[in-house]
Amino acid sequence: MVAEEIKKVLRGGEFLVKESEAQDVFTPEDISEEQEAFREMAREFVQKKVWPNVEKIDKGDHDKVVQLLEEAGELGMLGSSLPEEYGGLGVNFNTESFLSEELGASNSWGVAVAAHTGIGTLPILYYGTEEQKAKYLPGLATGQLKAAYCLTEPGSGSDALAAKTKATLVDDGANYLIEGQKMWITNSGFADVFIVFAQVDGDKFTGFIVPADAENVNLGAEEDKLGIKGSSTRQVFFEGVKVPADYVLGEIGKGHKIAFNVLNIGRYKLCAMVLGGAKRACDVAVKYSNEREQFKTSISSFGAIQYKIAEMATRIYAGESACYRTSGLIKDKIASLVEAEGMSKTEAKLEAAEEYSVECAMLKVIGSEVLDYVVDEAVQIYGGNGFSEEFPAARAYRDARINRIFEGTNEINRLLTVGMILKRAMKGQIDLFNPAMAVQKELTSFGGLGDAPEGLFGAERIALANLKKAVLMTAGAAAQKYMQALEKEQMLMMNIADMLNDLFCCESALLRTEKMIATKGEEACSHEIAMTKLFFVDAIDRINKSGKDAIASFAEGDELRVMLMGLKRFTKYDAVNTVTLRREIAAKLISLNGFAY
Ligand SMILES: Cc1cc2nc3c(=O)[nH]c(=O)nc-3n(C[C@H](O)[C@H](O)[C@H](O)COP(=O)(O)OP(=O)(O)OC[C@H]3O[C@@H](n4cnc5c(N)ncnc54)[C@H](O)[C@@H]3O)c2cc1C
Repeated sequence: MVAEEIKKVLRGGEFLVKESEAQDVFTPEDISEEQEAFREMAREFVQKKVWPNVEKIDKGDHDKVVQLLEEAGELGMLGSSLPEEYGGLGVNFNTESFLSEELGASNSWGVAVAAHTGIGTLPILYYGTEEQKAKYLPGLATGQLKAAYCLTEPGSGSDALAAKTKATLVDDGANYLIEGQKMWITNSGFADVFIVFAQVDGDKFTGFIVPADAENVNLGAEEDKLGIKGSSTRQVFFEGVKVPADYVLGEIGKGHKIAFNVLNIGRYKLCAMVLGGAKRACDVAVKYSNEREQFKTSISSFGAIQYKIAEMATRIYAGESACYRTSGLIKDKIASLVEAEGMSKTEAKLEAAEEYSVECAMLKVIGSEVLDYVVDEAVQIYGGNGFSEEFPAARAYRDARINRIFEGTNEINRLLTVGMILKRAMKGQIDLFNPAMAVQKELTSFGGLGDAPEGLFGAERIALANLKKAVLMTAGAAAQKYMQALEKEQMLMMNIADMLNDLFCCESALLRTEKMIATKGEEACSHEIAMTKLFFVDAIDRINKSGKDAIASFAEGDELRVMLMGLKRFTKYDAVNTVTLRREIAAKLISLNGFAY
């Protein structure tokens, strides 16, 4: 295999203070032939194998879920992220992203795949001993073994470390006795292996591998859920389950590392998956809008419907740009850790995901909220039929909702985003201080009229630099005001997280479009140019609103006035004819009769 190219890449969270070049970002258009073949295989599998069975799966036919997992395993799709020595394919991270996106368009079944390949399998890969890896990973790669992850309990969800399940050393240190109750466990109905978190000696949060057939492991009934009805979700009771002491996963008292590090990759992949779901929902909605006639014309000819189509496509484009950009950052970081520091690919991947944990948390929120927007508008485009189970929009709508809840709720991920960035700044890992001071200085100096925008994206380039200042100004002043107590100011933290998410999407969409123009030319990219410009318009308004809410919550008098003036300056963007942009964007999808995959 050709050695991976080593690039100098941004550190996690550094997008806020540094610029990126279009040629350095990874975009979906950079897909290789090998990745394309892999993507095609996954797409065909979902279309030919999963979709024809979607009703059956949703009615609770878990045998079908299992059969399809095993078939996907035979094709290598469950082991794509595992090293070849354990029966995996060892593909690079970008290939994994393309695969996740395809599998994400398969609703309940996709959730089963994600839980199995992600939170179910990765703890063993990253923290297992050689014996544990050799025992479990080959079976997990082929799908002969199915995995589930038992973290949540009735009394501890977001506050996962407060778990009450306990593990006590017995039989002179030969075994642990596990007692406790886990809740909402995906794949529990058919899993062979449970990753279980329990407190050793009262407060040493620790991971264990527990075989599902161990004595006294009992399952609750299937949950009656709002959506993803075909995914198996039960309570799992550990009622005095004895496991050998070497079933401990990682170190005693270090279970939090397993739980949280695995979630970084889980959050990233959730974003790739939901984008696959969003594209599919957009695709069927556009097709329906072309078929359905009212007032003697197809409803896709109505501006109100075109608005929705344009907005769906634009939000997907921005989310996708941010997602694949991060995929490229993670892939490059893995390559640099392997080549420059001699790490194994597995160690490097874990470290790379931790490096970009800020982006992973942001993407989880961005992706799940894009999906919810898209499925909601899909239902609306279907009208009454959107409310009928005979049409695909209803299932897409129900199944989307869980994504804002699991892998850390979106509130928790927003808090993490801001908390992690500030922590990194305090540790000196990102220099926020100097850029924030420069913005403060700029606030009190006469700003002048600034540079006049030049070229296609002149206005967006200026806006982007200013948006970074808007976020730095707001976050910097809030951090100065509240210091450590900022984490208690949750409404303010949510405002800052929203600003960061929009900023990251703006920059990612712009870089992607610029990169595309460099290879295809402006004319061939008119659709992407329109989506980029449209995204900027709305994102800038949202950033302005969040900034205003945030600043007004802690500043007063002269400070308030100066900061609001600064915010106005930093979110200045000349009026754009969004009607024309939306018409153009929608026209493309309408003419393609679907989403332009
Ligand atoms: C279908 C499904 C499948 C799942 N699969 C799995 C699985 O396989 N394994 C597993 O271990 N778990 C799984 N979960 C559990 C899931 O991860 C939790 O539901 C989730 O973490 C939220 O925990 P909770 O339900 O206890 O909600 P809570 O933590 O009680 O949260 C309730 C609300 O309060 C908010 N909140 C909580 N704490 C804070 C805070 N500090 N600041 C601000 N807001 C806060 C939350 O954002 C949320 O809006 C699954 C859940 C579902 C519904």
